[in-house]
Amino acid sequence: MPDFPAGPGPAVYNTAASPARHVRLSPGLYFVATPIGAARDITLRGLDILLSADVIAAEDTRTARKLMDLHGVPLGDRPLIAYHDHNGPAQRPRLLAALGDGKSVAYVSEAGTPLVADPGYQLGRAAIEDGVSVMAAPGPSAALAALTVSGLPSDRFLFAGFPPGPGAAQKRFLEGLKEIDATLVLYESPKRVHRLLDVLDHVLGADRQIALCRELTKRFEEVIRGTITSVQEAIADRVLKGEIVLVIGRGQPVQASAEEIETALRAALKTLRVRDAATEVAEALGLPRRVVYQAALKLGDDG
Ligand code: SAM
Repeated sequence: MPDFPAGPGPAVYNTAASPARHVRLSPGLYFVATPIGAARDITLRGLDILLSADVIAAEDTRTARKLMDLHGVPLGDRPLIAYHDHNGPAQRPRLLAALGDGKSVAYVSEAGTPLVADPGYQLGRAAIEDGVSVMAAPGPSAALAALTVSGLPSDRFLFAGFPPGPGAAQKRFLEGLKEIDATLVLYESPKRVHRLLDVLDHVLGADRQIALCRELTKRFEEVIRGTITSVQEAIADRVLKGEIVLVIGRGQPVQASAEEIETALRAALKTLRVRDAATEVAEALGLPRRVVYQAALKLGDDG
């Protein structure tokens, strides 16, 4: 849930001077990403689409109105239609009919990017099957924001959404992720995160590196990085509030041979300086940058 207008950005809005511009939208369905906290994370194009679409559909119409009000985007006499998981089958025909009539329909979920642990998939599919254009106005998503600040390798990641609640299904779900050679991104409620960490400790091992990212882009933004054990200790006596993304590092460091490092470095050094090449190769191979930097310097010396 976004906490408009809090967040690190200025909390003053001049709705008289909205940056939104009327644009001629081609017919189709527009998935518009909206802030996950700080209201000013909306994009200018997102605002243009919200101002110009014939129909607005929203997971939560009150949140959508609030966001539009904050940015001086009037709804006017355009329909604002609620579309969420529970009314999807009933509401889809109405939205598809508007799209079939050549209208532009903008869809916003409650926060972040529609379809990312949010409604929109069925609507998008149905629109594509009807031959309607489907477009994205990309922007915030908690998964990518968390990956960005996690300090964990970002070259390959798997977004796994919300795990099932505690129990056998959750354990199976986490065991299925254990061997995946990628950084994992999970959404979890603050009420369940302590228990989830206990299970992760058991399934993945206490030494896995993780980042618990809370309230991103909001006033009380916090990132706790470390092993599963150290994060468990850090939050043991705390009642966490707000919204949480858990980013989980890979199990085993990727074992790269000296030859693999050299080949990757030689390729990178064709276009990058030593420092940047070392950073790129270290990230790609999951190795400490220091080690790869030394190897790059040696390559330079050896020619
Ligand atoms: N569509 C959204 C997106 O693109 O991130 C996600 C919607 S999902 C229903 C809501 C979950 O996203 C929350 O339970 C939390 O795990 C995560 N989330 C959303 N906003 C967040 C924030 N500001 N900080 C941390 N996690 C957040």
